[in-house]
Amino acid sequence: MRMAADTIFGKIVAGEIPVEKLAETERVIAFPDIAPQAPVHILVIPKTTEYADVTELAAGDPGLLAEMVEVAKRLADEHADGDYRLIFNNGANAGQTVFHVHAHVLAGGLTEGSL
Ligand code: AMP
Repeated sequence: MRMAADTIFGKIVAGEIPVEKLAETERVIAFPDIAPQAPVHILVIPKTTEYADVTELAAGDPGLLAEMVEVAKRLADEHADGDYRLIFNNGANAGQTVFHVHAHVLAGGLTEGSL
């Protein structure tokens, strides 16, 4: 299995790179994306470095995946109107650049029906 230990998100979890924590549970943290693609663009990541992408996470710990979705919904309620787009890029050819599973929460003025 690939490990996500040495990614930039692993360093964020370890506190080596400071971020503005917008949500935190025992197992999950959320912070703004450094290059926002929507009025609200927040990343939700598990603290564990065990899972490189959502396929691995869904197979290994579906409860943790469900917790990430719960946090995403809460953030959409707090920062937008409660509606949100949840994106997981899986693999380099799909645009994934950080191999520590993360959900992109996009919200606020998403009127284009691109997907
Ligand atoms: P992906 O392309 O799906 O792997 O998404 C990685 C995301 O992480 C990109 O949207 C980047 O803008 C974002 N990102 C990279 N470094 C940081 C950072 N230090 N703080 C917040 N977001 C970051």
